[in-house]
Amino acid sequence: MLPSSHIADVEKSIRYAHESDRRIVFTRFDASLEGDHRDHAISYDHGTWTCDCEGHEQNGTCSHTMTLERVLRDMVQMELVGERVPALTGA
Ligand SMILES: [Zn+2]
Repeated sequence: MLPSSHIADVEKSIRYAHESDRRIVFTRFDASLEGDHRDHAISYDHGTWTCDCEGHEQNGTCSHTMTLERVLRDMVQMELVGERVPALTGA
């Protein structure tokens, strides 16, 4: 039988996961995105995105980092202004 503290941790993790948009903020990570033509290496560090594609090098943004922003939403800072977009924070 599982200890009651473990059961409480599992229950809390379920609640936290349901509230992930406001409880979790990524600070840095690396990711791979399967593009139509090849895979792309993406990094995120405190609001700054990098991608190994030509578009990101030229424009400072690309469809690959935009995709991760869409998927992670409030869990990352938005690239456009380097901080959370007011509409998303209710400010
Ligand atoms: Zn890219």
